[in-house]
Amino acid sequence: MSARAGIVVTGTEVLSGRVQDRNGPWLADRLLELGIELGHITICGDRPADIEAQLRFLAAQGVDLIITSGGLGPTADDMTVEVVARFCGRELLLDVELENRIANILKSLMARNPGFDPGNFDSIRVANRKQAMIPAGAQVLDPVGTAPGVVVPGKPAVMVLPGPPRELQPMWRKAIQTPAAQEAIAGRTIYQQQTVRMFGLPESALADTLRGAEGAIDGFDALEITTCLRRGEIEMVTRYEPDATDVYARLTEVLRDRHGEQIYSEDGSQVDDQVAELLTGRRIATAESCTAGLLAARLTDRAGSSAYVMGGVVSYSNEAKAAVLGVDPALIQAHGAVSEPVANAMAIGALQRFGADTAVAITGVAGPGGGTPEKPVGTVCFAVLIDDGRTAIRTLRLPGNRSDIRERSTTVAMHLLRRTLSSERRP
Ligand code: ATP
Ligand code: MG
Repeated sequence: MSARAGIVVTGTEVLSGRVQDRNGPWLADRLLELGIELGHITICGDRPADIEAQLRFLAAQGVDLIITSGGLGPTADDMTVEVVARFCGRELLLDVELENRIANILKSLMARNPGFDPGNFDSIRVANRKQAMIPAGAQVLDPVGTAPGVVVPGKPAVMVLPGPPRELQPMWRKAIQTPAAQEAIAGRTIYQQQTVRMFGLPESALADTLRGAEGAIDGFDALEITTCLRRGEIEMVTRYEPDATDVYARLTEVLRDRHGEQIYSEDGSQVDDQVAELLTGRRIATAESCTAGLLAARLTDRAGSSAYVMGGVVSYSNEAKAAVLGVDPALIQAHGAVSEPVANAMAIGALQRFGADTAVAITGVAGPGGGTPEKPVGTVCFAVLIDDGRTAIRTLRLPGNRSDIRERSTTVAMHLLRRTLSSERRP
């Protein structure tokens, strides 16, 4: 038994690449979590004939569920429901109660708009009658914006969701609970899914460990493992049926045994979550040269970071390193701006400048120019200082182009911060 699905992403703006598709990948994750096999994601413009062709194609593949995104609005180019109704051989019927609900949503939206002229409302209401036309026998999903979604039962069942991701995502949760959707996915296999994250481990070393584990662990075949290397971090996702829980436990033992130093997460949490946790009750400041604020931006990406982020300095020039952070120009003269002593001095400057108890400094050669034989492009020095004396000072040679090096530097800094903050305090 299994359940298979296909996704049709509609919208000329998505087809042309002006808007990047965020619905296909998001829905793919949700389907995976539920144990529904995803066969295809197709993208087409707002032409009814194209949408219909995609529906026919997916139905011919024998999928149990088709999910569409986009084209639910009131305007003439929004035609998905109409096309789906025709495809499913169902009449479109006016749902009067739904029409009133949409009218009320519109009234309250327009009441908040100072230019609202009540005289216009009837014409708008006519345009929105279209949104209350529902295929006979379909289940209506309440609008998150103004557009309702629908789920049409059958083989395949067709779930019609709105285009804007902030509307599609909440609606999905209700859509998948409908009897029509539940019936379509009844054959799915329930999987467990676990994620292990590692940093500083070559992918080949993990591949080697997995090859070894395959021979050593009974029932290894029950695990479906995918690994993905991104910015120096490896994400290993394993899917298995519940009766293979022990097999997965044995695999994690092998991993901990061989790569314990590099594993930083077994519960799916990201390094950013962990650093945020470790910084609770602390005061952090940054001093950045080659990353010019990217680390500060990353640290403040999450709500609530004002509780522990004091501030940061973008000390791109040598003058700024000296004037703002108090780095001795003689130190720069002696070791170069990209050096461990300068990174250390930048971090000390950030600690003092912001009255912080934790500081991170980054200085490096992001390229493409500026490299030397001793310090080629990609050479980056890091310093993490904590006021109780714990420190980490490192120089790394990072691969890639300018933007890769700058981005990778922030990731390295996050991991150094995590390691230093979670290391034993010195007596
Ligand atoms: P509306 O009522 O806003 O017209 P709709 O359901 O008709 O909603 P579309 O007209 O297809 O949706 O898309 C509206 C907007 O939503 C797009 O301009 C785009 O900004 C965003 N959007 C649509 N589809 C996607 C997608 N697959 N990924 C990301 N954004 C999308
Ligand atoms: Mg639209």
